[in-house]
Amino acid sequence: MDSRCAWDDDPVVAAWSGLPRLESRLTADACVVGLGGSGLAAVEELTARGLTVVGLDSGRVASGAAGRNGGFLLGGPAAFLHSSVAAWGAVSVDLYRATLAELGHLADMLGTDVITRTGSIRLAGLPGDPVGDAEAAERAAELEDCHALAQALRDNAIAVEPYDGELGQGIFLPDDAATNPSRRALGLASILRNSASLYENSPVTSLEPGVVHTGHGTVSAPVILVAVDGRLEQVLPELAGRVRTARLQMLGTAPGLPPRLPCPVYGRWGYDYAQQSADGRLLVGGGRDLFADAEWTSDTEPTRPVQSHIERVAERMAGRPVSVTRRWAASVGFTPDGRPLCCEVRPGVFAVGGYNGTGNLVGPVAARAAVALALDGIAPPSYLVASAAD
Ligand SMILES: Cc1cc2nc3c(=O)[nH]c(=O)nc-3n(C[C@H](O)[C@H](O)[C@H](O)COP(=O)(O)OP(=O)(O)OC[C@H]3O[C@@H](n4cnc5c(N)ncnc54)[C@H](O)[C@@H]3O)c2cc1C
Repeated sequence: MDSRCAWDDDPVVAAWSGLPRLESRLTADACVVGLGGSGLAAVEELTARGLTVVGLDSGRVASGAAGRNGGFLLGGPAAFLHSSVAAWGAVSVDLYRATLAELGHLADMLGTDVITRTGSIRLAGLPGDPVGDAEAAERAAELEDCHALAQALRDNAIAVEPYDGELGQGIFLPDDAATNPSRRALGLASILRNSASLYENSPVTSLEPGVVHTGHGTVSAPVILVAVDGRLEQVLPELAGRVRTARLQMLGTAPGLPPRLPCPVYGRWGYDYAQQSADGRLLVGGGRDLFADAEWTSDTEPTRPVQSHIERVAERMAGRPVSVTRRWAASVGFTPDGRPLCCEVRPGVFAVGGYNGTGNLVGPVAARAAVALALDGIAPPSYLVASAAD
C-alpha cells in the first residue's frame, strides 16, 4: 500500500519546485522553525512588519500534519462551541471569530481554487442505518447535541442551518470551507518566498536563545518562533507535560466515486470525517477516540486497527464499498485542557502548538499571537494559554 498522502497527487503539489537547503550562516531579525500553516502565518506576520525572516523546515514545506490532514477549515477550536464556552468561558467565542477571520484572510490570499467556501456538515452519527440499538441511541443523543451547538452559534450570531438529507441529520455551517492542505501551504510558501528566506530539508538539531542550528548551517536571530504541532516536545523538551504527541490517520480511495459529500462532513461527535475531491476520491480519517492509547506515539506509520475502522467510515460515507489506494498518518499535539499553547519558552524563543487535532486555522491564530507576544509584549488571549497537566 502506498503511504504517500493522497493530497500530494494534485498536479500543482506534484510540480512544487522545492526550496534550497540551508548551507550557510545567516543573520535575521527572526527565525521561524516549521513551515506548516502556522509557521507560514508567522512568516507572513513578521515580514509584514518589515522584519528580515528565515524559515526552516526539516522536510518539504508542510511535510507534517499541515500537509497531510483532512483539509477541513472549520470555525473554532477542536471542542464544539457550546462545550468550549462551558469549559473556558466566553473567550472561546473570540477564538471562533478569530478562526473565521483567518479563513477569510486565507481565501483572499489563495483564491477559491485553493480555499473552497463549501460550508461543512456536522452529522449525528454516520450515514446509513444505525447498526444496532446502541448506535441508534447514540445518534439520538448526538442530534440533541447538534441542536445545543446550533443554539450556541445562533446566540453568537454565527451562521448555522439544520441539515436533513441523503447523509442523515445534523447541522450545516455555511461559514466553513475545504482545502487541499498541501496546496494551501505550498501556495503560501510560493508567495512568502519573495519576502522571506525559506529553506526545506533543513532540520533544526538544536536551538538556544539567539541561535538556531541545522546540520549544515546556523541562523542568528533575536526572535525564534517554533511552530511545530506534533513532536513539539521533542524540539523543546521543557514543554513535555504541557503538550503530548499523538498520531492521526487517514486513507484515500480510488477516484471516480459518485458525488455524495457536498462539503467536509464529520460525524460520531466529530471523531470521524471525510471530504470528497473533485475527481470523486474520498479522503477519510477518524477513530481518535477508539484507539487513543495506542495513538500516543510520534511514530507516523498507519496501523491496521485504525485503518480498518476508517475504511468502514469510508464505506458509510460513500454509501457503497470503496477501493482504498492510500493510507497515511501524521503527528499532532494535544494539551491537557484542550487549549492550544502560545508562550515564551526560553528568552527570545517562542512556541505555538497543541491544537488537539484542529490546527488548520487555530494554528495561524496562535502564530500571530506569538508574534504579538514576541514583538509587542502583548500577552496571548486566554484561549491560547493551555494549562499544564495536573
Ligand atoms: C490525519 C490528520 C487529520 C487532520 N485533520 C484536520 C482538519 O481537517 N482540520 C484541522 O483544522 N486540523 C486537522 N488536523 C490537525 C492539523 O493538521 C494540525 O493541527 C496543523 O496542520 C498543524 O500545523 P502546524 O503548522 O502548526 O504544524 P505541523 O504540521 O506539525 O508543521 C510543522 C512543520 O515543522 C517541521 N518540523 C518539525 N520538526 C522540525 C525541526 N526539528 N526542524 C525544522 N522543521 C521541523 C515539519 O516538517 C512540519 O512541516 C489533522 C491532523 C492529522 C494528522
